[in-house]
Parts: sequence; C-alpha cells; structure tokens
Amino acid sequence: MATTDYDYLVVGQGLAGTSLAWHLKESGKKILIVGDSSLPSSSKVAAGIFNPLTGKKLVKTWLADDLFPYANAFYTSMGQELNCQLLHSASIYRPFRSIEEQNTYLAQTADPGISRYISQDTVAADLTDYVHAEFGGLEVVRSGWVDLPLLLNKTRDYFSMNGQYMHSKFDVADLQFENDSLTWKNISFGKVVFCQGFMALQNDFFNWLPFAPVKGQILDIATEKAVKPYIVNQGIFMLPVSEHVCRVGATYSWDPLDWEPTEQATEELESKLKSLIKIPYSITSASAGIRPSVKDRRPLIGVHPSHDNIVLFNGLGTKGVTLAPFFANQLVEHLENGKELNPLVNIQRYFSLYFR
Ligand SMILES: Cc1cc2nc3c(=O)[nH]c(=O)nc-3n(C[C@H](O)[C@H](O)[C@H](O)COP(=O)(O)OP(=O)(O)OC[C@H]3O[C@@H](n4cnc5c(N)ncnc54)[C@H](O)[C@@H]3O)c2cc1C
Repeated sequence: MATTDYDYLVVGQGLAGTSLAWHLKESGKKILIVGDSSLPSSSKVAAGIFNPLTGKKLVKTWLADDLFPYANAFYTSMGQELNCQLLHSASIYRPFRSIEEQNTYLAQTADPGISRYISQDTVAADLTDYVHAEFGGLEVVRSGWVDLPLLLNKTRDYFSMNGQYMHSKFDVADLQFENDSLTWKNISFGKVVFCQGFMALQNDFFNWLPFAPVKGQILDIATEKAVKPYIVNQGIFMLPVSEHVCRVGATYSWDPLDWEPTEQATEELESKLKSLIKIPYSITSASAGIRPSVKDRRPLIGVHPSHDNIVLFNGLGTKGVTLAPFFANQLVEHLENGKELNPLVNIQRYFSLYFR
C-alpha cells in the first residue's frame, strides 16, 4: 500500500467526528480532522443527556447495557486527559402523571432488565417544592449528561495543538483518487471518514442513504430558586447545568429543516415547562439543530459500496452521546482489524438503494 501523509482524514468535528478521531489517535493512527466551527452542528445544540429508559412506556434504550458503560468510561477518561469534567452523573426524575401511570410504572420496575436502571432507594427524590409531582415519581439511575460544548472546544484545542485539526470547509469536489490513496489540498490520506451529521445530504457519496433528519429546539432558562441536580423528564426534559441555570427541550419538527429557533417552538416548550415546574424563570436563549436521524432509527456506519477508502460515520439521531463512543470503537476495529460491524448499523443494509 502507498505511503500517505495521514492514515485518516476525518471530515466534521461534531460528536461523531470527535469520538472517531479520538479512537483513531488512541490506536496510534495518523489523523487530520477538517472542520469549520462557524458551520452549524447538532452536537453544539444538544443537551447531552444519556437516559437508559425512554418514552412514555419506559422502554430500555437500544443496547443500553453495552453502550452506557462504554460511554461512561470513554467520557471519563477523555475528561481526565483534557483536564476537565465532561461527564456529569445525574438521576432522571420522572413525575407520574396519574395514579394509573404510577401503577403501570411500578409494575414495570419488577422487570430485571429495567430494575437496574431504577433507584432502589426507599426514600424517593423530593422535588415537590419546584416540580409538579402530585402522584410521586420514579428515579432513573445510570443516567446523566455530557457537557458537549466543553467537549467540542477542548478536543478542538487538543487536536489543533497536536497538528491534527485544520479549520476549513471540506468540498467533496476537491477530493482526488490516486492509486490506493486519496488526495485533498495536496495532502494524501489512506482513508476519508465523513462525519458530517445532517450535512451528509449534500455529499454525493452518501446522499442516497435514507436519512430522516429531525429539527429540534432547546431553551436556556434562569430560575429564581435554586434547583437540585436532577434531570426532570416528563414530555420534555429540564437539565440543571448549575443551581440556577437549566436547559429545557426538546421539540421535534420537520418543516422547515433549518437551524433557526422559532417563536412557535419556544411557546411549545414553555407550555410544557409550565405544567412541569411551579417556580418563576426567565428564558435567556433559544437554539435549534438538526438531528441526523435515519428511517430505521439506527446509525449509518461503514464503507462505501464502490470505494473502500471512503467511509461514513453518521446517523446518530437523538442519541449521539451513547452511540458515538461505542460505534466509533466498532468502526475502528472494523477498519483496522477486520472485525464485523453490527449489521444493524452497517450501511450494507441499504446497498440495494445505491445499486438500483
Ligand atoms: C435540540 C437537540 C437536542 C439534542 N439532545 C440530545 C441529548 O440530550 N442527548 C443525545 O445523545 N443527543 C442529543 N441530540 C442529538 C445529537 O445532537 C446528535 O446525535 C449528535 O450530536 C450528532 O453528531 P454528529 O457529529 O453526527 O453531527 P453534528 O454535530 O451535526 O456534526 C457534524 C459536523 O460536521 C461539520 N461539517 C459538515 N459538513 C462539513 C464540511 N463540508 N466541511 C467541514 N465541516 C463539515 C458540521 O459543521 C458539524 O460540526 C440532540 C439534538 C438536538 C438538535
């Protein structure tokens, strides 16, 4: 194989690109990340919550037993290396909406697959001084949040300092194929991995895949009264990032798919927030992003059907925080050691769309 300047070019420095680049550098690969922090990014907007039991029916998140411990170890060790706290463990308090819901949820907690994610404390968290919880509530554990703005900034500084980050917008038209390698701006690479989130739809190599992007908005609020370090979740989430500052989200919308917060989404979040909490607050900012979701709600990862040095790491949807580290590791193992990718995430499942 020809010698190249770098083993890998990673396009995009959101959560996908960052997790992948981190795993590649840990396995001793020579990497260059190309990113443009002035472009929008879903990771910049995300609340960073990881929640093992989601939805109205309290369903265990897909592969939670594998993904959560891996993510925990990953963000903890990354934080140690970057000298900052990226991972914040925090229980998720889910107020019951009715006696019926209380009964249903408590019955479900007998399921051994679920019970390890529910607090066994006899005295449940008491947030009634600021949360509407007339019927009590349930405390989900092994949950928390990752400080994504800090992670993105710290890793960008780290990679820049080590000559592994270039600030630039990547144009696919500038990529040239030369024998076994790829060249971009006169720099040669063994492989290019595209980690562009929603912007993959502008990339001819991969825009045939069934992305189903979803816009989301969140609010930053300041509360007059101090709140406890519990994420509150009922229809929406309220995540305390400090005693008086919370992030509140998120909405799900499809039209228009742009990156602008709207008054309508703010009103939707406010109306849900008012039925969740009973203390005064003020909105300090609103932001919106586009989740790189997929029709079958599974990541899109793997090697291009016609070019074995063009790779995709995408489709993290609503759960990038836990999916990104685990599948970054799986992708590196696949590319470097030939280990099989989970077929449910491998883009091979959609090759028929490419060849039709
Ligand atoms: C409102 C909201 C709340 C969310 N909350 C959570 C949450 O609590 N927990 C959770 O797990 N997930 C959450 N998510 C989902 C999460 O944001 C995504 O799963 C994840 O961040 C996707 O990461 P990514 O790197 O694939 O995409 P992105 O973060 O969008 O990153 C792609 C990067 O590639 C760059 N890029 C694209 N094209 C180019 C180019 N041509 N040249 C250079 N750079 C390029 C972009 O600028 C961007 O930086 C939320 C999303 C939204 C919108």
